[in-house]
Amino acid sequence: MANLFAEVVIVGAALEKSLHYEVPPELAEVLQPGGLVSVGLGRSKAAGIVLSLGNALPDLPQTIKIRPVLGYSGKTLPDDLFRLCIWISEYYFYPLGEVFALAIPGREEGKRKAGAKRKIKVQECETLQDCSESAINPPPAPFDLTVEQGEAFESISPFIENPSFQPFVLYGVTGSGKTEIYLRLIEKAARGGKGALVLVPEIALSAQMEAIFRERFGRSLAVWHSAVSQKIKRKQGIEILSGQANIVLGARSAVLSAVKNPGLIVVDEEHDPAYKQEDRLRYNARDVALMRAKILGIPIILGSATPSLQTISRSRAGQYRQVLLPSRILGRPLPDLEIVDMKRERGRGGMFSAKLRDEIARVLDDGRQALIFLNRRGYAKYYLCNACGLVLQCVSCSLTLTYHKKENCLRCHYCGWETPLPERCPTCGHSALFAHGFGTERVEKEIGRLFPGARTMRVDRDTMSSHEKLLDALDAVKSGRANVLLGTQMIAKGHDFPNITLVGVINADAGLQVSDFRAGENLVQLLFQVAGRAGRGDEPGRVILQTYNPYHYTIESLLKMDYDGFCEMELESRKALQYPPFTRLLKLLVTGKDEKMVRAGAQLLASLCREKAADLKEAGKHIAVLGPSPSPYLKLKDRFRWQVFVKAWGSSEMQDFAGIVLHCVRNEPGFHNVQVTVDRDPSSDI
Ligand code: ADP
Ligand code: ZN
Repeated sequence: MANLFAEVVIVGAALEKSLHYEVPPELAEVLQPGGLVSVGLGRSKAAGIVLSLGNALPDLPQTIKIRPVLGYSGKTLPDDLFRLCIWISEYYFYPLGEVFALAIPGREEGKRKAGAKRKIKVQECETLQDCSESAINPPPAPFDLTVEQGEAFESISPFIENPSFQPFVLYGVTGSGKTEIYLRLIEKAARGGKGALVLVPEIALSAQMEAIFRERFGRSLAVWHSAVSQKIKRKQGIEILSGQANIVLGARSAVLSAVKNPGLIVVDEEHDPAYKQEDRLRYNARDVALMRAKILGIPIILGSATPSLQTISRSRAGQYRQVLLPSRILGRPLPDLEIVDMKRERGRGGMFSAKLRDEIARVLDDGRQALIFLNRRGYAKYYLCNACGLVLQCVSCSLTLTYHKKENCLRCHYCGWETPLPERCPTCGHSALFAHGFGTERVEKEIGRLFPGARTMRVDRDTMSSHEKLLDALDAVKSGRANVLLGTQMIAKGHDFPNITLVGVINADAGLQVSDFRAGENLVQLLFQVAGRAGRGDEPGRVILQTYNPYHYTIESLLKMDYDGFCEMELESRKALQYPPFTRLLKLLVTGKDEKMVRAGAQLLASLCREKAADLKEAGKHIAVLGPSPSPYLKLKDRFRWQVFVKAWGSSEMQDFAGIVLHCVRNEPGFHNVQVTVDRDPSSDI
């Protein structure tokens, strides 16, 4: 019998090449591509995934001795996941071994924990049962679908019976009952012996979704997000692989879970920027989910009240089918919106306009609840020296420090570095340091002062240091223990609190000052979401938006509750500027500890890109190169950052171009002192 060889990718390694091993006879029958094996690597053992099997070896130098595969774990990645990992590695230009590591539960995240400080500290919730018995009230018994829901269900359901790849955009206003449609379609898939994968953007949202899903699907449900402990993840990993748990609900990394035989994928709040990972593997889970559905040949639902412009334009082009839910459940009205021009409030009341103050007082008197939204945590936005004009900045990042009163410290919201508030300006020595701007911590204090009857629950990354605290906070609102829910974007989306009749947005403009071409889109989506938290019960809701720019087109479209109109305008301007979704972008980020080297590296990279773009132009492919330019955050965590943007008019042009450039980068000594990172389809241009 001819010898059998396995081409193996080492899990978790950034190796460019795969390695070859001989398959011992006892494994020849059982080993498949996607199989998790152990192999020798140098003097130690390593885990690997079999990429291919064959009887021939490639031409290898004589000195290389082929070693045997040492063992097979008995686990094999499902074929669709295996193929998806290969696609991710090629599309995002990321080492395949590291992509595989993300698809194998319990390996990668443990490693990460030891390194980077996690953004949300989460306590382990040791048993999965400890999560689902959160005090969140169970949902009411299942109801009949409304006529609109029924129609939406019927248009998607044939694709579950006879599966084929088809993206659906479930475009339904807030409170239109999208979740119930997901549930019914998943039930249908489950009755046909199929599983499902459901993605939600945030851990805060999964708490509520989890309770609803757990009640319907019991033990067939596995929940996957960063607050689930490694131990549970390993246990669930086995249940998922065996098919015992074949409905997986989770945040973006769940897109790589090994759910067996899925018949449907759901991406809830598909427009949400949280689907994009901004470090290491810079993928967008929504886009990866689309590719997974394509590989599987199954339907995928992209649900949102404010679909992304990418999704809107693809559905206009006929690639996606739109399913509309234009009204709220049971004919409940959308909230009334009112804009307060804060320029007219000057000198009168600080963070609360007279209007918002009156409304909060009334709602509390009526025994209802209010949601107050401000997308900035901390007490003061920054500290400025009135004598010399210095703004206190982080030592490692080009970011101002935020003041936190409780700890009396200044903190960097990017790297977490903190320092006590100095008594004197570190530059000029005058004691003239003053706080400017405000965050949720200060608003909380102000609410306490203005409204004696307020029982405030503040939800932001400072107060929610564990998953349990978050569950408890949401329960406090649900049960009425708290009557004011104050917070950052953690409270803006998805939650369904029927007794909230007032939403107040303290500063609707935060986010507009950003130079990013997506700032308008992100702001409008966020504000529609926040506004959508009001009036979800039997009492109509009201939204008060405080702004300094009442005539800005984002604010105007919100006032009219006209998201389509906003998209129309925004798409026109994107087209004029040839920005996505009309083009594809790639960000090449050059980073390093030495500013001069980073700048030189970026200049070298830009000229390399221009040279290669000129070559491609001769072949009729058009690529535009922009930059180099310093990143708007020139320094983060002690690393300087410069960037080069590449624009292409098609995905395959981008693929070819980036492949050529990155090959040169690896072999060009001029880049050895810096790191070049690829960000494909970046979510922002900063
Ligand atoms: P969305 O996700 O579209 O914002 P939800 O799915 O949260 O909306 O639904 C809003 C509320 O309406 C929830 O409390 C849900 O339980 C309720 N609901 C959904 N469908 C129905 C129905 N057919 N009849 C009565 N209530 C419903
Ligand atoms: Zn910092």
